[in-house]
Amino acid sequence: MKDQHIGLNTICTHVGEVKDEQFQGAVSPMYLSSSYAFMDVDIKRYPRYFNTPNQEALCKKIAALEGTEAAMIFGSGMAAVSTTLLAFLQKGDHIVLQQSLYGGTYNLVVEEFKKYGISYTFTDGLSKDAFAKAITPQTKILYIETPSNPLMSITDMQMVADLAREHNIITIIDNTFASPINQNPLKFGIDIMIHSATKYMGGHSDICAGAVAASQEHIERIWNLGKNLGGSLSDMTVWMLERSMKTMVIRVKAQNKNAKKLAKWLHKNSAIHKVYYPGLKSHPDHLLAKAQMSGYGGMLSFELAEGLNAELFQKSLQLIKPSMSLAGVESTVLSPAQTSHFLLGEEARAAQGITDGLIRFSVGIEDTKDIIADIEQALVMVRSQVELAEI
Ligand SMILES: *Cc1c(COP(=O)(O)O)cnc(C)c1O
Repeated sequence: MKDQHIGLNTICTHVGEVKDEQFQGAVSPMYLSSSYAFMDVDIKRYPRYFNTPNQEALCKKIAALEGTEAAMIFGSGMAAVSTTLLAFLQKGDHIVLQQSLYGGTYNLVVEEFKKYGISYTFTDGLSKDAFAKAITPQTKILYIETPSNPLMSITDMQMVADLAREHNIITIIDNTFASPINQNPLKFGIDIMIHSATKYMGGHSDICAGAVAASQEHIERIWNLGKNLGGSLSDMTVWMLERSMKTMVIRVKAQNKNAKKLAKWLHKNSAIHKVYYPGLKSHPDHLLAKAQMSGYGGMLSFELAEGLNAELFQKSLQLIKPSMSLAGVESTVLSPAQTSHFLLGEEARAAQGITDGLIRFSVGIEDTKDIIADIEQALVMVRSQVELAEI
């Protein structure tokens, strides 16, 4: 069976598994050796060379999901991002990044790139014009993230890939929010897909890992730097990640379904001022999302109606927990202004539409009615505070 022709669920369950030749066990044996014989073998195996049996197995699964020739896994999403970017950039080069990126990626660029002599431009918006204007003769990479955090803005992948090709520039996408289940950027001509596997690939809030999927040629280039930077993932975690990924399609589809129901419910609720979910017709990028995504994902954001205290709302939730991370099977909330986008400063946040009352919601796999009931009771608390103040 060719990997390209089998379904996502089958890829998640089977592709890449390490055969247990000795006992015919059902799952991949875990190889924890950090030392492998070097005589009479073709490949020198070593964890930091990204080529232990379990690492190689998991990379096959991730490459099959993204439809690429090869993949690599890292100790964190940021190890994947930093190694990939630095593999293609050197002194004198320029990179164009879309406005509104994951905070860690933004920090990497603004805090570190200057000392390597790498210049950068963040686009002013997500239009073709915004990207085209930012390109210089030194530009080597167009870097995008869609849906983006926290307003779920959608970037046109085909437009970006076409524009980059005209200028002979590599395109990289952070595909974490969509996951390979909801979006296949390679289909639109994007070159390199990056994931924080801490999120949907791991899915249970107990793994920190990263992944990159691309052509063999690009992966070799990333590998050459990766073995020197040393951001490999421990085989124990690799094994856990393989196990987690077996249920990724089922989890993500359940999260898609819950998020859509919840977004519709929030949209109709008078206590909610605004809902940002690409699956809602009211979302400004809905048609683009519909054209390039196969599911709208489990992430959404919303603002409470004026006068309702967002902090009290979050504190009043009982089932849904505040969390810095996202994409677990449990529903979590976060205030971008206080956490992920705090360092950006008030002015830059306002320019991007990130208000103090904005709440980002990572929808889990609980029963929708229970998620809604929890939000409903928290809204009652917040409203009663307003009524008290009015007395
Ligand atoms: C979490 C995240 C990252 C960084 O991943 P880590 O595993 O925390 O290093 C990068 N991009 C996006 C979109 C993320 O959500």
